Amino acid sequence: MKKGKVIILVAPSGTGKSTLARMLFEDFENLKFSVSATTRLPREDEENGVHYHFLSDQEFNEKISSGDFLEWEEFYGGKKYGTLLSEVDKQLNSGYFVLLDIEVKGAINIKEIYGDECLSLFIKPPSIDILKQRLTDRGTEDNETLALRLERAKEELTYADRFDQVIINDDLETAYQEVKKAVVKFMNQN
Ligand code: ADP
Ligand code: 5GP
Repeated sequence: MKKGKVIILVAPSGTGKSTLARMLFEDFENLKFSVSATTRLPREDEENGVHYHFLSDQEFNEKISSGDFLEWEEFYGGKKYGTLLSEVDKQLNSGYFVLLDIEVKGAINIKEIYGDECLSLFIKPPSIDILKQRLTDRGTEDNETLALRLERAKEELTYADRFDQVIINDDLETAYQEVKKAVVKFMNQN
């Protein structure tokens, strides 16, 4: 069976990665999500094993020691996030394309590992003010984590040109059509 390839949507938190990812999953049956591990607490609508594998700090550290992560990062007040090798391999070996929703540094590491077998799309917010508005409207952050996420966003935006393509998520449908076009092209490449 032909091995699948990796697609990364990378963007500062609140830009719209998860929204765009959901739209992709509706259009592409051959695309599967890589469920990351994290030590942050689940949000109200999040399910263990579906959105993330929610782990204690100790469980996460054990996985680091066992070499279970392709990459991992610590941010937002000590919370850890990591891509599990087993998640990615499971899908690739079954011939699926795998979608990763991860932040900038992790995405750079994954791109280094997979090279041309990986499409990395950097999604940019129209402005920091609009990003702040989206995070506020989403209603998932307290003032402290909102400020941390915005601070980190400013730094992350400086890495945009390290990725295969930059897409601005201003109007959602327009941004999605651009994402979809890039994904279709990548899927059809040998
Ligand atoms: P991320 O996964 O990057 O953290 P989300 O997909 O959760 O971001 O989006 C953050 C918030 O912004 C959500 O409430 C989402 O509905 C909203 N959103 C996403 N894209 C747009 C857009 N183009 N215009 C307006 N709101 C958007
Ligand atoms: P959130 O807490 O909003 O779900 O995610 C915060 C940030 O962590 C987002 O930018 C998200 O893409 C990123 N993230 C999620 N999973 C991983 C992962 O496995 N590795 C890395 N490096 N970042 C991740």
